[in-house]
Amino acid sequence: MFVDTSPAGQCIFCRLIAGEIPASVVFEDAQTIAFLDLGQLNPGHTLVAVKRHAATLLDLTPDEAAAAMRTAHRVAQAAQTAFAPAGLTLLQCNGEAGGQTVGHFHIHVVPRHADDGVGLLWPRKDPPREVLEAYAAQLRQALAA
Ligand SMILES: [Zn+2]
Repeated sequence: MFVDTSPAGQCIFCRLIAGEIPASVVFEDAQTIAFLDLGQLNPGHTLVAVKRHAATLLDLTPDEAAAAMRTAHRVAQAAQTAFAPAGLTLLQCNGEAGGQTVGHFHIHVVPRHADDGVGLLWPRKDPPREVLEAYAAQLRQALAA
């Protein structure tokens, strides 16, 4: 699997945004850019990245996060019009353990078709109600901080 661990400003997406390497760009605005993923899980598979180098979701400003989702929404609408997929999957990975392979925030917009072979393991733990409530309490405390 390809993994880009370049420092900020020199990563493959920063170089792409600077026009130093070619890309099939489909949309850009002040804060975001959308271009085709080289791997093309299905036709129209697009990456939406923020223009400023920010490694993960946690490094975005709230405004950048909103801008990225606004562009992903727009690209998803376009992918639906252009390729008429049966479904669409958005995937956003953070950190190596989260499946991130380029350390510059991006969202995958993936047109989907039945039996296209794209998958995500989803190992449910189904904890009991009291464990769910303990997790919720931890998150509420963090949100209130
Ligand atoms: Zn970058």
